[in-house]
This record gives sequence, C-alpha cells and structure tokens, in this order.
Amino acid sequence: MAGHDGKIIMFIGDGMGGRDVPSLGGRTCLEAASTPALDALASDGASAMMYLANPGQPIGSDTAHMALLGYDPHKYYRGRGPFEAMGVGLDMQPGDVAFRCNFSTLDDNGIITDRRAGRPQTGTEELAAAVVDAFKDGINGVQIFFRASVEHRAALVLRGEGLSYHLTDVDPHAAGVKPSLCAPAPDCPPSEIAAAERTADVVNIFVAEAAKVLDANPVNAQRAAEGLPKANSALPRGAGEAVDIPPFATMHGGLRGAMIVEVDLVRGLGDYAKMDVIRVAGATGRRDTDEIAIAAAVVENVPKYDILLCNIKAPDLGGHDRDPEQKVQAIEKVDRAVGYLLDNIDWENTVLMVGADHCTPVVTGDHTGDAVPVVFYGYGVRRDLVHTYGERAAAAGGVGQIAGADAMTLLRNFVGRIDKFGA
Ligand code: ZN
Ligand code: ZN
Repeated sequence: MAGHDGKIIMFIGDGMGGRDVPSLGGRTCLEAASTPALDALASDGASAMMYLANPGQPIGSDTAHMALLGYDPHKYYRGRGPFEAMGVGLDMQPGDVAFRCNFSTLDDNGIITDRRAGRPQTGTEELAAAVVDAFKDGINGVQIFFRASVEHRAALVLRGEGLSYHLTDVDPHAAGVKPSLCAPAPDCPPSEIAAAERTADVVNIFVAEAAKVLDANPVNAQRAAEGLPKANSALPRGAGEAVDIPPFATMHGGLRGAMIVEVDLVRGLGDYAKMDVIRVAGATGRRDTDEIAIAAAVVENVPKYDILLCNIKAPDLGGHDRDPEQKVQAIEKVDRAVGYLLDNIDWENTVLMVGADHCTPVVTGDHTGDAVPVVFYGYGVRRDLVHTYGERAAAAGGVGQIAGADAMTLLRNFVGRIDKFGA
C-alpha cells in the first residue's frame, strides 16, 4: 500500500440518470433540477460517464452496487432474493432459497390492480406477522420465513432439503393480469428440474394461502375503508440462493468499509461483504427521507472508516412512477445532502464520487442501460473543464468513460491507496 490514509466516499443517487423528457424541454431530470452542490463538484472536480455493466445492458441496484464495490456480478451474483432477505434481517443458510416479494393488490377475480398496493406506509409489519403465523408449520416440510421491508417490499426465505433457485417469477411485472404460477426457469439445469418443481410447488402454495390470510387481515379492512388499495397478496420474484463473496477488506487492500444506504438489497450485499451497515433514523427509503440526517451520518463516520458507500433511493422512485416533478425533487434532495458533505468534510484528505447505479428514466419507468454521469471531487482529483452535473455535461469529463467496476480503482488511486501494477 502507498503511504496515505485518504478517505473515500461513494455517494449514489439511486436511478438518478435518465433520458430527455419532453415536458422538461428535452432536458433530463438531472439537468432540469436545481443542483448547486453537484454543479460545484463538477466545477472543481472531474466528470465521467459510467456504464455499470456492458454499455446498453440495463442493470439492477444489486448487481450495480456489486460492480461499484468491485465484485464482478457475472461471477458472484446468484439472484436478488438473498440480498433482499439479508437486508431486511432474515438470516440465510447454505441451501436456502430467497425471494423479494411485493405486497400487491388483487381484485375479486384475482387480477392484479396495483403491483405495489399503493406503496403502503403502515401496516405491512402486521400483515407479515399474520403470514408468518399462518405458515409456522411450513409447507411440504419446507420452513417459511417472511418479513416486510419498506413500503410494498418484503422478503421470503425457504429452508429445507433439495431446493432450487432456478425459478420463474410469480410477480408478472404488470397489472391487469393474474399472478404467474411459479415454475422451473427456462435456464434451469436438467439436474435441478425436480428440485425446482418441488420448490415451485411450495411457492405456489405460499402465494395462494398468503393471499387468503392477507385479504382477511384487519389492516386490509382498514385500507379498504380509507379507499386505499388492499395489500392482499405477496408476490415473489428474483429467486436466488445465498451468495459466497470475499470480504470487502480482502478485495481492497484492507480498506475498512461501511455503508449508509436506503436499499435493503444493497444492505444485504454489505452484510455478505462484511462491511458495517449503519442505520440512520429518518432514512426512510422514500420520498420523505431525511437527506441531511443521512449526510450527517456520513460526516460522523468518515473518521471511523476508509470508505463509506451512501445511497439515496428517492430518484429511482420518481423514475419508476414516470413522474418528472417527483424525480426532480428527489434529485434536489441528493443535492442538499451533497451540499452538506461539501460544507462539513476535510477535502484535503477525502475524495468523493457522486453518481448513479443506473438510469431510471421517467420516459421509460424502468432501468435502462444508458451511461450515468459521475463526478469525482476532492483529494487527488485533476480538475477538468466541466461546470455542471448532468448527462450531457459529464460526457465531456476529464475521466472519460468508465465501467462500474472501475469506480473503486479510480477512487483508491486518487487517495494513493492502491498498489502499482508492475515495477
Ligand atoms: Zn438502483
Ligand atoms: Zn429501480
């Protein structure tokens, strides 16, 4: 290791990149938002365009954050479910199969009317408790673990002999249709078909029985009385098995890492990577999140760690909701958090990267494989000629075009905490 103890902060606005929005005069949400702090970083720092995976490949928050932390997702990824489960505090053992679930709304004919059940703000813990109680004796000899997370999100873990994670999603990713039946995935290895069929049976029983339990729960009577969509089904997707990855410190020359993030599945990755996962009161993972509390937690923890990863979820929500105004406001929250960092950190000894884990354009409502703008600021960064933060401006950045997997290398280089390649 080179003899320096500079600190690294990686700050991710989830899904913050986007595409041109007609109602914003052809600008992206980032370009339309008022972002004095991000623009100051761009002015005094160096920008880049970053593809998290292969250019054009849409990527999830989990695989994107793996890449950002230096873990090749093609090598280590075993599905989303395990990260979600670990992130909400469900323990995972070897052989367990985990899913992320959505609380969704079914009408009387079993048709999905709202995949996210109106993004419930309360009551999901009671609903989850009722599901847990209903399955306390397991299904076909398989133990069932279930826990609610933020809003409509939840996680399901199956534990038993001979399970397989090569399964299709129950969540059809669209409203107006019935939930899909779980089945062995098209890419299921032939040797695992029997196990996948057995696991799919358990999942299908879970979905059918959980819908009855949820629909009968008083929380849903209350929601209906208030005119809110019922959270009367739990639809699994993203099946995966427990992953085995090297600790973050082992990957990065002993650097001590922690994360302050709003996405459960990224927290789950942190648990797997043996990073400290710091919880912040007021970090809700929603639009109402307290961005200053998050930034203050970063400032407070910089002395204790070599690298902090921070993630604010709100911009991604605006993208998925196809709501430019909501996304612009969320980006302005990220900007206020970054402004707090600018004012409260010793930049003689610290480097900051601000970027996104993928684009979630309001014009598509889902992740796209477009490059995201990134800015580096602080210790070791060679200032370029870019003066604002945004998709078009960053394309002229001095760091050029990078991959998500380059982020840690670049950051370690800025602070002199990486070994030379060669003599
Ligand atoms: Zn994301
Ligand atoms: Zn997203």
